[in-house]
Amino acid sequence: MAATRNAAFAAAEIALVAIKQNRKSTWSELVSSGIDTRLSAEQLELVNRNLHVVEQLQVSTGAHVTVTWCPECDKIAFLAQGSPPAKCTLTLRCPGSPVKAGAQRRAGAA
Ligand SMILES: [Zn+2]
Repeated sequence: MAATRNAAFAAAEIALVAIKQNRKSTWSELVSSGIDTRLSAEQLELVNRNLHVVEQLQVSTGAHVTVTWCPECDKIAFLAQGSPPAKCTLTLRCPGSPVKAGAQRRAGAA
């Protein structure tokens, strides 16, 4: 069982909040807009280290892409619509329940 939060998942959560706060639909759109993301150096570094995940995120309606993370097996998956699966489908016989990035936290905690 993973003790700490998956780094790519944490980066996705940070990026999703920043994208939503600035009313953009993707991370690259936010960065190219030149808007100050108001993220700390640590947060930005985490996001930049996980761009392979962060750049897949989509916040616009109709093309929503977020990530889910299973705290048991520490795997992440992309999710286009709806709720994460109740049971982990990323690892065979894993008892974990994946959580969805950006599901719990409201924007404004930056
Ligand atoms: Zn799992």
